[in-house]
Amino acid sequence: MIPKINLQEIITKLQKFKENDDKKLIGVFPHSLIPDELIYAANAIPIKLTLGGDEYATTKGTEYLTQATCPFARGTIGYFDQANPLYQLLDACIGGNFCNGDLCASEMIMKFFNIPFIRVTFPTTTAPFSLNFLKKEFILLKEKLESLTGNQITRENLYTSIELYNQIRNAFDNINKQLKKNNSPLMGEDLHYLIHRFFLLGPDETLNYVNQIEIENAKQIEDKIPVLLSGSGIALGDELIHLIEEFNVRLVVNDTWSGIHFYHEKIDINASKAPLDILANHYLLKNESSRMVPNTRRIPRVLNLVKEYDVKGVINHILKFCDPYVADRIRFKEALQEADIPTLELERDYSTSVEQLKTRLGAFFEMISYV
Ligand code: SF4
Repeated sequence: MIPKINLQEIITKLQKFKENDDKKLIGVFPHSLIPDELIYAANAIPIKLTLGGDEYATTKGTEYLTQATCPFARGTIGYFDQANPLYQLLDACIGGNFCNGDLCASEMIMKFFNIPFIRVTFPTTTAPFSLNFLKKEFILLKEKLESLTGNQITRENLYTSIELYNQIRNAFDNINKQLKKNNSPLMGEDLHYLIHRFFLLGPDETLNYVNQIEIENAKQIEDKIPVLLSGSGIALGDELIHLIEEFNVRLVVNDTWSGIHFYHEKIDINASKAPLDILANHYLLKNESSRMVPNTRRIPRVLNLVKEYDVKGVINHILKFCDPYVADRIRFKEALQEADIPTLELERDYSTSVEQLKTRLGAFFEMISYV
């Protein structure tokens, strides 16, 4: 019920934001840990580098990065190499050391594509010294954004930005909860397009759009098998969710950076705390990715979501060489086995030959349809 994203329409809107509203467009590579609230408070729009799923772009990226880099990072470099019109609009990019993909792609963007680049270094632990470290990185990021945009980020506009992003989180959360009703007209693919639209256009445009969605009046769909997908995110252009839902299945939870990781936890706004402290706390301590050491959030979160959404099966999605999820595969598999939750481990790249993928999905869905 939510239409596919029309990239040309997005590009036209972004051009208007640049020309009419004097907004800067800042590309963000790391999937999480960069506070978009800070970018928005500098009167800029955070644009997630979210395009992917294209075998040709990935192959192009292999001219810069080795085959042992994840296909998402290689694909991103491929889009820059091909002068993708969306990425051509960017005024600057942010990258860092979120994972090996981020580290390698950031290096190549800086070296070959002549775009102002802001590098952020992330800690890997959640210890108190890591929190102080991240806060200092956010102070540096704030200064660089101010200098890039020519706009000062005040305490007030940062609070306003945090509140607006929380409204978006709530809106997404409420829509996702609609998927608990087994006759809901919404599908996982609807949420996929909705969140990618937000990743590309920012909060103002999204809030209006989300508020106009009329779920209640849409045609009801019944009897779909509820499944959860966890692991590597699903880029815009990757057809995996579509392939899954071609079966009699509904993806009720997308437990990845391109799904609930953004909106599962709201930012705890405490007016007595400085906004940068609030952001550092949220992004480090509530980070849902598997990059943090120790990685304590993923398994309990997935087990709770399986119960909450009455999930019949879990897909552990691992893009090849996606280190955080490759490293977590055995621990994740054992925990779900122990909890008696049927799980399909799906390691893949962006290959266009999907027959084998469909066969594996079909066999798994047939098996859980009897559970
Ligand atoms: S999280 Fe995984 S898929 Fe995403 S850039 Fe890093 S290695 Fe690649």
